[in-house]
Amino acid sequence: PIIIIGMGTCGLASGAGKVKETILEELKKLNIEAIVESTGCIGYCAVEPIVDVKLPGEDRVSYCEIVPKIVPKFLHTVLIEKKIFKEKLLGTHGKTNQDARNINEIPFFEFQRKIVLSNCGIINPDSIDTYLAYGGFKAFDKVVRLMKPEEVIKEISISGLRGRGGGGFPTGKKWELAYKQKADQKYLICNADEGDPGAFMDRSLLESDPFRVIEGMMIAAYAIGASQAYIYCRAEYPLAIEKLQNAINLCERYGILGNNILNTGFSLHIKIKKGAGAFVCGEETALIASIEGKRGMPRPRPPYPVQAGLWGKPTVINNVETFGNVPSIILMGGEEFAKIGTEKSKGTKVFALSGNVKNTGLVEVPMGTTLADVVFKIGGGIPNGKEFKAVQIGGPSGGCIPEHLIDTPVDYESLKEIGAMMGSGGFVVMDEDTCMVDVAKYFLTFIQQESCGKCVPCREGTKRMLEIIERIPQRYSSGKDKNEQLLRFKGMIHLQRLADVIKDTSLCGLGQSAPNPVLSGLRYFREEYEEHLYDRK
Ligand code: SF4
Repeated sequence: PIIIIGMGTCGLASGAGKVKETILEELKKLNIEAIVESTGCIGYCAVEPIVDVKLPGEDRVSYCEIVPKIVPKFLHTVLIEKKIFKEKLLGTHGKTNQDARNINEIPFFEFQRKIVLSNCGIINPDSIDTYLAYGGFKAFDKVVRLMKPEEVIKEISISGLRGRGGGGFPTGKKWELAYKQKADQKYLICNADEGDPGAFMDRSLLESDPFRVIEGMMIAAYAIGASQAYIYCRAEYPLAIEKLQNAINLCERYGILGNNILNTGFSLHIKIKKGAGAFVCGEETALIASIEGKRGMPRPRPPYPVQAGLWGKPTVINNVETFGNVPSIILMGGEEFAKIGTEKSKGTKVFALSGNVKNTGLVEVPMGTTLADVVFKIGGGIPNGKEFKAVQIGGPSGGCIPEHLIDTPVDYESLKEIGAMMGSGGFVVMDEDTCMVDVAKYFLTFIQQESCGKCVPCREGTKRMLEIIERIPQRYSSGKDKNEQLLRFKGMIHLQRLADVIKDTSLCGLGQSAPNPVLSGLRYFREEYEEHLYDRK
């Protein structure tokens, strides 16, 4: 038998380490020889620790919430009695049989479409052989042997893939611009500086399937003509860094990375650069400055990184999830990929589903899926019988979407239209008890602390906005005096004006989107701000 334990950060946080120890001890007692392996996160973080069992000749079966004290009974049932442990069954990974449903029949998985996350929670992220067995590096092999760089770029353009880091810039276009640059050296960077509160997509993908990201980078480097690549990953992700470094080492040992890869004449070296956790370093030019050893501050563009990026050379920066899509596009073909999603937003999007929702975790849905489907069908709705109030999407740069817009499809344009944005994939659900002024205050405090201070509107403006917001709750408990109220009302007007000015005049995306949580709050929950203001209860 093979026993596979989910050992991503979510699994470890739920006690998977102790579960593994207990399983090993129990196997010894039962005198059973089994292969005990680790995997990453299958996405259903709410029911970790997840343990899979594969008996010879049978389907792999997933079980959830396996805590140490039930391990003896669990192992006895599945290994000695050879029965399904029904009380903690998640589902089988094969044909449905009368004893166990297929895992894809669970609503959490049923409405998802996994491309980027297809291997997550399934393969061992430390084993290059497992990745190869699951079709890994086939896309790179096809590219490097059969396709010219222009053909690769064309395929990515046809697919309609857009940057998953938030900007939504067409990936094929970015690669083409870099490809056309004449330079003795070009660079490729993977942006793994995930920093939005509530976002853990990149971390989870890197921990669970690092080879996929590396393969996507190899294809991109081949397409643009880069021989040196960097992965800029925040140092707060030690497990992701460990898995990545191990994957890079294995690729080098197998001759898949390095000089003259597989005797094709193509060379690529990948280095990991640890970031110190500054949110602004997710911005391309700040990230480049940080790799160069300078203070991570954005600079005005143009020149764009594809013209003059790292050390002044043409540089392509894509996010982890963007690279994660690339091998699948090459294998299924751009046209096939473009059939998934909406007219302008192709493919799938990975979200970190969290907050007041039953099924928290990592989900991947086709573009165009409605917010309601993510919250209620996949997320299972709001716990404790509470009502849904809003969903905060896109991190601090995003906005809060109220109930009457819950049928909005998830795509770049639709979200922008209603004052939110796709962002990198944070998806925080809020119930009726959530105070929207507090939410705005939380995000504004975050942004204000993370502002690099280079330009005045962002540095000073966010501070002033925060001061106004911070005074609002005080108004709630005091201030019945008419003059006081008038002053506070003026504060509201200032808040709106400041937000507009900061949005229009800040240098980089961080400042330009900083007022979004407040603006969307004023737009959709104005009565709540006024309630605080006028002490109406
Ligand atoms: Fe720095 Fe904010 Fe200006 Fe961006 S907008 S450069 S984070 S001060």
